[in-house]
Amino acid sequence: MQAEIIAVGTELLLGHTINSDAAHVARALAELGIDVFGSCVVGDNAGRLEKALRDGLRENDLLVTTGGLGPTDDDLTRETVARVTGAPLEEHAESLARLREYFGSRPMGVNQRKQALLPRGCTVFANTVGTAPGCAVETPEGKLVIMLPGPPSELLPMLHDSVMPFLAQRQEGAIRSHMVRTFGIGEGDGALLLDGLTAQANPTVATYATDTEMFVRVTAKGGNAHEAAELAAPVVEEVRRRLGECVYGVDVPHLQAVVVDELTRRGQTLATAESCTGGLLASLITDVPGASAVFHAGVVTYANEAKTRLLGVPPELLARVGAVSPEVARHMAEGVRQRHGSDWGIGITGIAGPGGGTAEKPVGLVYIALSSADGTWLRVMRPTGRVMPRAWTRRRAAGHALDMLRRALQGLSVTALRR
Ligand code: ATP
Ligand code: MG
Repeated sequence: MQAEIIAVGTELLLGHTINSDAAHVARALAELGIDVFGSCVVGDNAGRLEKALRDGLRENDLLVTTGGLGPTDDDLTRETVARVTGAPLEEHAESLARLREYFGSRPMGVNQRKQALLPRGCTVFANTVGTAPGCAVETPEGKLVIMLPGPPSELLPMLHDSVMPFLAQRQEGAIRSHMVRTFGIGEGDGALLLDGLTAQANPTVATYATDTEMFVRVTAKGGNAHEAAELAAPVVEEVRRRLGECVYGVDVPHLQAVVVDELTRRGQTLATAESCTGGLLASLITDVPGASAVFHAGVVTYANEAKTRLLGVPPELLARVGAVSPEVARHMAEGVRQRHGSDWGIGITGIAGPGGGTAEKPVGLVYIALSSADGTWLRVMRPTGRVMPRAWTRRRAAGHALDMLRRALQGLSVTALRR
């Protein structure tokens, strides 16, 4: 199946709203093995939306629109899709009942009622969060137009709870998709290691990179779910084998979730001391539900005096080697661990920039230490050659800290990185 996404909304064209809906829909379709060959944005204008729909239907089997389903005059998607698909709008009793329920004792404006007008014969997707239902309309040629509401908080549950099962049912065969997640290897090196795999058609192997991590998606199509799973499994294993210890998990949400999970399984605890990351590491860890069982404390010690008072870093050491040094990172990790009676301690100190760098200690230099009762490990992040944004350096430093702990917990070499 070949698809196009049409995001409707003048605010998207003006750049006031970022088109995150298109990203959510694209990812969901990819997961189902549906090829997205186009994505466009149209303002709240019936004529231009009609043209986009007609053009889209010529080339694709599926169009997914986002936005323009609400009660206001600029919400034109429903009428326009009805015109293009030739399915007249009719009041959908169940959707009207839902709307009434939504408003409860509050009065429901006449314009609200129009949200229950849906193309004849469509499959309705209930809106469990807001007012406008979504739906799928089939054209006389057997093509599909799916309309989804604009607000992401409404689109996301509808997409995952209703639209994906609906589309999965219509797909021939089954899709099995896995995400292999890595830290410490760039997309270029990753692609070399995966040479040969990324060219094959089924399962497909595709790499994605953020500024700190690389992901590999393996997607297999089979006649049924079992067949798809059987096709995918050995390729996932092969990807894991080739990328080695850099792989921190398959189908896991993120690195911090793996760390919290490993700590929980061992009944161990962590405390962190951060300078240049300013609490980012603690924030990432506490994003994970259940972190309270393993995370004791996170302190942000920016000033030298705070490093001494809160972590016990000797003032003469700070004076001698400076705050950004391997010695101070070690003292921070050990100090925070001992002061909180934790199994693990992490210390991060570095120069995030853009100012403050010297020839000896350039912007981008960060020391990350991990301390346990067995000893302390150190990783150094050196400048990449170009000055990277402050946020990049901070994210990467927090990622290294998590990766060091993940490796220690999994019994792997902590300081070794491919590069
Ligand atoms: P409503 O019932 O709220 O009017 P709607 O389906 O008519 O919903 P729009 O009016 O087009 O949707 O957009 C409502 C809000 O949803 C926008 O102000 C914006 O905040 C958000 N939104 C719309 N489209 C997108 C998009 N493509 N990506 C992210 N957010 C979006
Ligand atoms: Mg609207």
